[in-house]
Amino acid sequence: MSKFHSVVSRRDFMKGLGITSAGVGGAALMPPTFNDLDDMASSNESVSAKRAWWVKQVDEPTAEIDWDIMKRYDARFTTHSDAVLARYVGAEKLASIVAEGAQGRQEAILANDPGYQLRDWALYESAASAYATMSWDGIKKVKTPEQRGVPKWTGTPEENTRIFRAALVFLGATDVGINELDEHHKKLVCTHPQSVSASYLTKWPPPDTVNKRIVFEDIQEGYKTDEKYVIPSKPLWAVTFTIPMSKDAWRTAPGLVSAAGNQSRYRLRSQTITCIQEFLRAIGYQALDEAYPTIPAGAGAVLTGLAECSRNSEVHISPEYGSCHGYFDLITDLPLVPTKPVDAGIFRFCHDCQKCVQICPADSLPSEKEPSWQPTKSSISPVHPPLDPNMPDPEFHNPGKKIFWKDNVTCNLFGKGQIGTGSGCKMCQAHCTFNVNAGAIVHQFVKATLSTTSVFNGLFWRADNTFGYGLKPEEDREDWWNQSLPAYGFSTTVAARDGGH
Ligand code: SF4
Ligand code: SF4
Repeated sequence: MSKFHSVVSRRDFMKGLGITSAGVGGAALMPPTFNDLDDMASSNESVSAKRAWWVKQVDEPTAEIDWDIMKRYDARFTTHSDAVLARYVGAEKLASIVAEGAQGRQEAILANDPGYQLRDWALYESAASAYATMSWDGIKKVKTPEQRGVPKWTGTPEENTRIFRAALVFLGATDVGINELDEHHKKLVCTHPQSVSASYLTKWPPPDTVNKRIVFEDIQEGYKTDEKYVIPSKPLWAVTFTIPMSKDAWRTAPGLVSAAGNQSRYRLRSQTITCIQEFLRAIGYQALDEAYPTIPAGAGAVLTGLAECSRNSEVHISPEYGSCHGYFDLITDLPLVPTKPVDAGIFRFCHDCQKCVQICPADSLPSEKEPSWQPTKSSISPVHPPLDPNMPDPEFHNPGKKIFWKDNVTCNLFGKGQIGTGSGCKMCQAHCTFNVNAGAIVHQFVKATLSTTSVFNGLFWRADNTFGYGLKPEEDREDWWNQSLPAYGFSTTVAARDGGH
């Protein structure tokens, strides 16, 4: 018999939260109600990972999408491109911001500042030192079924999904979301990957040899050349998979341990994607992934039910893993069963919560109560004309969804001047109300409650502040080195239900 049965009543739960008679009355209105912790662990609705009951599958994401407005986006116009940032502040100013960051970095390591000490640098640089070599259509080291003299694997989409999920999780992913690459989802495929240097500010556009274009062609197998990544025009499936990040490392933000926590997901992704490409090749199929992004992984995560949108348009929050989580995508011709979006009350919670807004040192996050269809312009007026007058204004956002829009220009400029890595301060994501440890059962209670009612959102946010979850004080950052944490700094068992985990 479960040890939880008859031990924790809803009244005790609410009492534990400091809510008595009137509050319990409010709780009684919650549909559906739960009886005890075992209700929360039940998972009778999910077609994919076994998830708690309060993670509800829905037909449409909790953030609205207008597919008539949505268009394929040119990711060269994100603020990951220095050319875009230079348009806003000028190339000289951008260079001086970067130089200030470098100078501060040297001063910090000499001063032995918490978060920027030699050992912190060593961790960050080692985390980024060993990537697997990735290739759009795979490294092609394993034999195909044809080379083995056997027929390719054929199974139903359900059978395919089971073996694909099992292989992808074994190779390093913690969860998997799937969508058919239909006419809607094709609109998420970028026309070019991100990141263009400031040198192209005055000679836009960069040639396709700098950022290959991503195109569809009437062929059977994807391939790449020096100028393009090619996706076959045939039935395909878009897969989003997750690589967690160390919540404890992130809580030391800003600094190099938190940067190492962020960096590690890219290293792990390079191995996972390379290996799953080889797995699919070995059973007679193909996976495409190298261009970053091919499909913005946050969008894929929301549409496939791995996450919901948040108040930060660049952060997508997983019901299981919270705000510090990595999402990556691939495209495959193995027929799979799509997964549905979810409603766990997360996006609705962000309407009431302002924790990330209050911590942001660059005033980059919106404080409006409601999301908007209209992307917000930067608070910095650009000093140069648009790189391409045909792009929407602002060019760094892709319209077509009703969300909270971040000022990516001020955020990325702040990151450029950071004495850490110049890749962003990360404080909002680390401080988020959802950056809590899955093992603490009170957080399961809270997540279950906010999935069913928004009545207590304000309370939960205030309680989170009161209990001090989120960022560590600066003087405690180096304590990370004394913690005993799991391999890679995160739990890989959150979505596991078999094998005694
Ligand atoms: S990364 Fe830093 S600057 Fe950017 S939105 Fe988050 S807290 Fe603000
Ligand atoms: S801190 Fe609050 S508002 Fe910001 S993303 Fe997290 S839950 Fe949403």
